[in-house]
Amino acid sequence: MASPTLLWFRDDLRLADNPALRAAVDRGEPIIAVFVLDEDSPGIRPFGGAARWWLHHSLESLGARLREHGVSLVLRRGPADPVIRDLVADTNAGAVFWNRRYGGAARAVDAGIKSALRAEGVEVASFAGSLLHEPWTVTTGSGTHYSVFTPFWRSCLALPAPRAPLPEPRELSGLQSAAASDALNDWSLLPTAPDWAAGLRDTWEPGEPAARRRLHEFLLDDLPSYDRARDEPSAGATSFLSPRLRWGELSPFTVWDKAVDVEGAGGFLSEIGWREFAWHTLYHFPDLATKNLRSEFDAFPWPPLDPSHLEAWQYGNTGVPLVDAGMRELWHTGFMHNRVRMVTASFLIKNLMIDWRLGEEWFWDTLVDADDASNPFNWQWVAGSGADAAPYFRVFNPELQAKKFDPARLYISQWAADAPTDPIVDLGETRKAALNAYDVVKRSPRK
Ligand code: FAD
Repeated sequence: MASPTLLWFRDDLRLADNPALRAAVDRGEPIIAVFVLDEDSPGIRPFGGAARWWLHHSLESLGARLREHGVSLVLRRGPADPVIRDLVADTNAGAVFWNRRYGGAARAVDAGIKSALRAEGVEVASFAGSLLHEPWTVTTGSGTHYSVFTPFWRSCLALPAPRAPLPEPRELSGLQSAAASDALNDWSLLPTAPDWAAGLRDTWEPGEPAARRRLHEFLLDDLPSYDRARDEPSAGATSFLSPRLRWGELSPFTVWDKAVDVEGAGGFLSEIGWREFAWHTLYHFPDLATKNLRSEFDAFPWPPLDPSHLEAWQYGNTGVPLVDAGMRELWHTGFMHNRVRMVTASFLIKNLMIDWRLGEEWFWDTLVDADDASNPFNWQWVAGSGADAAPYFRVFNPELQAKKFDPARLYISQWAADAPTDPIVDLGETRKAALNAYDVVKRSPRK
């Protein structure tokens, strides 16, 4: 009697370079593929609106590709532990395979399922598919984790080179109708009333085939000018691969493999390194989205929240052109250029003096690439409270940033042509106030 393999898809919605899938094929039994929409397990952060939109389409694409191979994608909703264990019992699965996750809550869920299933005699194996280096393998000379990027990345580069990506398996065999599935539409991941996703539809095509096409195009057209043009938001010179990596439509091993031998790719590859560093940091500091990594920032004297300022920032109505352009790009497309992410975040934290966590939450809800590590890591980087962070006293001046990186105002006119022109705060005065508030942090002892 067949003892199928349950293949649990999570942040790895692809067939190529998917080590859990490879192992499932090698096991030689029929495969049952499953995705669980888990918004209920303790500590698991429910997806934001833009992420839900992406997930819907990426699952649709993955489901279609699996069907071509005769495998159906089973969709289930609920806390992963009972959902996976029930599915194993119902299908008589003899093995469960997945690619690893690195957030604290996700690891706790996975460890619980692993030990419960093993106790029942089910084979469980997890694989490295989402990071080039497992976070616990990158350690300082004294065996601790890194809190500064440059030595972290140097240490990664000194490790054995990342493995070659695995080809997409040719032969899959699935158990048709082995298990009942929810209908994707019943999950209501897409916005309806109102449908705010028109800009996302115009901008993106989620799914592995489009991800591979974009990688190819980037390597050919944009990588050669990446170092020169990556900071110009109107240039479209970056890879736009962040949602692809976030949802695992592409693996970092594939990106690495294709880029590593390209002359001048070092700058781009070190950005992939920042992604690794963000996950490394989250692995060692699971509360990254809620707690200051540098505890002396707990003393920061945030003034009472002015909701009208927060709202002006969210919808791009601050009267500061580069900030408004960025926030409008985000609202329209689910994406924002990296330099502008830094400027908008700095403006919220340092000119509006609004707690970085509120900005992080807005990005979490509106970015198609929002992930548990990169989003809070970068917010803490801008706030000055994070790992290898920009010092707090470095307050981006949005006007100078616009002059430097958008000198012809192409980006500003594309996104903020009709935005207000009267700034809601005085940039110079608020900068001074922020620096005064920072003095309190400086005087506060590090715990
Ligand atoms: P490229 O310049 O082509 O870089 C290649 C890849 O490297 C990216 O796709 C991404 O995976 C990785 N990368 C680049 N910069 C960073 C970085 N600073 N930190 C981590 N990884 C990086 N990135 C996310 O993927 N998800 C987020 O939720 C996220 N939130 C952010 C919030 C703030 C406040 C800031 C300042 C940055 C944030 N970033 C986040 C990082 C960065 O802005 C995006 O990864 C980048 O803009 C994506 O565009 P790209 O794919 O064209 O990047």
